[in-house]
Amino acid sequence: MCCDAAYWNEPRLRCTVCAMPLAHRRGSAGRARYRCEACTDAPPAFDATLALADYRAPLDLLARGLKFRARLALGEEFARRLALAAHDMCEEHDMPEIVVPVPLSRERLIERGYNHAWQIARPLARRLGTPADATLVRRILHTAPQSKLDRETRRRNVGRAFALARPLAGLHVGVVDDVMTSGATLDALAHTLKAAGARRVTNFVALRTPKD
Ligand SMILES: [Zn+2]
Repeated sequence: MCCDAAYWNEPRLRCTVCAMPLAHRRGSAGRARYRCEACTDAPPAFDATLALADYRAPLDLLARGLKFRARLALGEEFARRLALAAHDMCEEHDMPEIVVPVPLSRERLIERGYNHAWQIARPLARRLGTPADATLVRRILHTAPQSKLDRETRRRNVGRAFALARPLAGLHVGVVDDVMTSGATLDALAHTLKAAGARRVTNFVALRTPKD
C-alpha cells in the first residue's frame, strides 16, 4: 500500500528551512528562497528540511508501524523516497557528507530494541553514497514530550540533550528522523552539530506535523 502514488503524492510548497507547508507563493524568488514566517523571524539552527508529506492519516500509520511495530521495511521505503527528493534538490544544495539518525536515549533504545530513525538513515545514506554514523551523536538526556511547551521552554529542555563523539570540521550533516513535530529536537541537535563545527545541517524527515 505504501507504493501507491496517490497515497504519497502531495506536491506542496514548503518552507525550505523547516518544511512547513506554505499557503501562497510569495514573490518571484527561486524555490530556495521560500521561508515561513517563523523561520524568517527566528531562524532555527538547521539550514534546510526535506519532508515527504504531512503527518496525517493514512501516512501516520506507516510512521507508527516503523516506530512501534518494528515494520523495518518501511524505513527502506521512506529512505528511497527521501533519496529521490534529495536528488531533486541537489542543484540548490550540496549533498550531506555524513548522515546521522536522531538518537534515542539509552533507556528508550533498550525498551524498543532499535532506533527507527536509524532504519531510515542507513538506507538513505547508502542511496546518497554518503557514510552513515549511528554513534556520532548520543542522547544524554531523556526529554519529556515537548508539544505542549512554548518554543523557548522546549529549546531550554532539549538544549543539552545531545553530545558528539568528535568534532565535525566543516561537514554538511544530514539528520534523519521519521516525524518532525515542533522542530525543537532537530533545532537542538543542529545547534549541537554547529557548535562542533558543522558547516551545514539538513534534516531529512518522512512526515511533518504543523508547528504548535
Ligand atoms: Zn520554516
